[in-house]
Amino acid sequence: MFIIQKDDSEDEIKCLCCSGWGKVYIGHRDPYEGNKLRDRIDCKVCHGRKTIPIKTPLGQAMLAFWAKLTEEEEKERKEQEEKERQRKYLQAKALAKLSPEEIEALGLKLELE
Ligand SMILES: [Zn+2]
Repeated sequence: MFIIQKDDSEDEIKCLCCSGWGKVYIGHRDPYEGNKLRDRIDCKVCHGRKTIPIKTPLGQAMLAFWAKLTEEEEKERKEQEEKERQRKYLQAKALAKLSPEEIEALGLKLELE
């Protein structure tokens, strides 16, 4: 989750710039070694803190971003579930027209859920 609740202070939000890592890579990614040899510096947005207080304008902006991203991911997940439900429905409908011998002869298997 993107909201970090701290016991001793107000809520903070995961830094959008470094995704809550507190650091960012500098220089180019090596095609063979990846990020292994790259230098890292403290994130210039959160200054290595990893989070931003939600009450600040920057925290509010990041909250809006993470909320929108989560909303879109949820929408996409629901669309995928609906497509899968439709696929299974059509598959079951088509298989219902065949006898068990025909299903076996075609090498098909009914997905029961
Ligand atoms: Zn950061």
